[in-house]
Amino acid sequence: MNKDPRIIKLTPLFKEKIWGGRNLTHYFKDLPAGPIGECWVISGHPHGDTLVADGPFKGMPLSKVYNENRHLFGNDESESFPLLVKFIDAKYDLSIQVHPDDTYAHKIGEEYGKEEVWLILKAPLSQKIQLGHYAQTKEEFINLVKNNEWDKLLKYAHIEDNYLVPVFPGTLHAILGGTLLLEIQQASDLTYRLYDYDRLDNRGNKRPLHIKEALAVTNVPDTLIRPKSVLNNTLNHRDIFKGNHFTLGVQTVHGTFTYASIPRYYLLIVTSGQGEINHVPLTAGDAFILTTSQQPLTLKGFFNFVLVKRKEKK
Ligand code: ZN
Repeated sequence: MNKDPRIIKLTPLFKEKIWGGRNLTHYFKDLPAGPIGECWVISGHPHGDTLVADGPFKGMPLSKVYNENRHLFGNDESESFPLLVKFIDAKYDLSIQVHPDDTYAHKIGEEYGKEEVWLILKAPLSQKIQLGHYAQTKEEFINLVKNNEWDKLLKYAHIEDNYLVPVFPGTLHAILGGTLLLEIQQASDLTYRLYDYDRLDNRGNKRPLHIKEALAVTNVPDTLIRPKSVLNNTLNHRDIFKGNHFTLGVQTVHGTFTYASIPRYYLLIVTSGQGEINHVPLTAGDAFILTTSQQPLTLKGFFNFVLVKRKEKK
């Protein structure tokens, strides 16, 4: 039983998707029936506000804990909880899509754009992910879209298990069928769908496209991003992704590891193994927020985890 207010454990929220599968049972024993595409593990977003699992804030939505206890979050100035973490199981290909940046989001009255990063838990057999495009000018981009010349437009990148894929706003992307991954992103649900393979949902309808918005926010020409492996011990306990809004490290505990203090707040997501944080037990799939504290925090056991640190606003 967790009585430590510094360690906030959250209850996962599951989402059915037409492209979803059943592979999240590897992490979540009580997976609901149906094609489950997403499991939101840390979120204060109105489209899925995760509830605190135990401890003094038990049952409260994260948005409320964040709003009423800002000191636990290093007095973060953001209006709403700024980050969102989900596991994704793509049985089928996701649509070709793109997300806006903060500047565009503000123009349409939203607080956040969407910078995201993926940790590949299981790569598809093709070892591919759709990332970026070949068009050199907006005109070329628009023509290839209009003429449905997707083979000429879309770029693919090589991925393997334990690869990290940064997806900055304005980057065209799609997760392909057979991929299991952990996504860390700004707390935004702004997705502009450029192409959905003309497929139909179970009612025989196509899902809406947002071509005008996608054309407006996609970077042309593309900026090169290379997915890279995180399987390098020298990277342990160091940030391997440095975004504009958060940094991310992929780490291992073998025995004991202590944080002397938590200066702001960290998100900790367990990807394999088991152990405890200050006697609060943890296992693969668990997600925690470690809140501001001057006291040490001790991790014990044998597990791998992702640690996300929120960046200060400048
Ligand atoms: Zn995306």
